[in-house]
Amino acid sequence: MDSQKVSELKERFSFLCGPIEVDDGWYTLIKDLCLKIENALNNSPNETGFEIFIVTKKMGCLRVYTSNTNPYLESLVIEAERQSCYICEECGSKGQLCYRNNIYKVLCEKHRIMNGFRKVKL
Ligand SMILES: [Zn+2]
Repeated sequence: MDSQKVSELKERFSFLCGPIEVDDGWYTLIKDLCLKIENALNNSPNETGFEIFIVTKKMGCLRVYTSNTNPYLESLVIEAERQSCYICEECGSKGQLCYRNNIYKVLCEKHRIMNGFRKVKL
């Protein structure tokens, strides 16, 4: 992700501690997730120490690793991970899971063709 976007997110959300290893198309998805988490944490002051220690990918979809989480925060994370499977990681348009040489990535039609990926038949 663009380093300015990463800095923006990290300055805004103190619980976002580790690296963000995904492309710009998921910026809004990650920001929305962080806003929901922030809201939940503000409403439950007893929850302390929540951290996102890495934002990465697993099999082409978003994977967010956390510590000191709770079932509600985890449900927010899981929902964002699920949504990422339908959002182009490069531009944020509607996408689907694609692959090229064992690399999986969610891409819109334009970026799939530009990058020489094939659709994964689910
Ligand atoms: Zn795209």
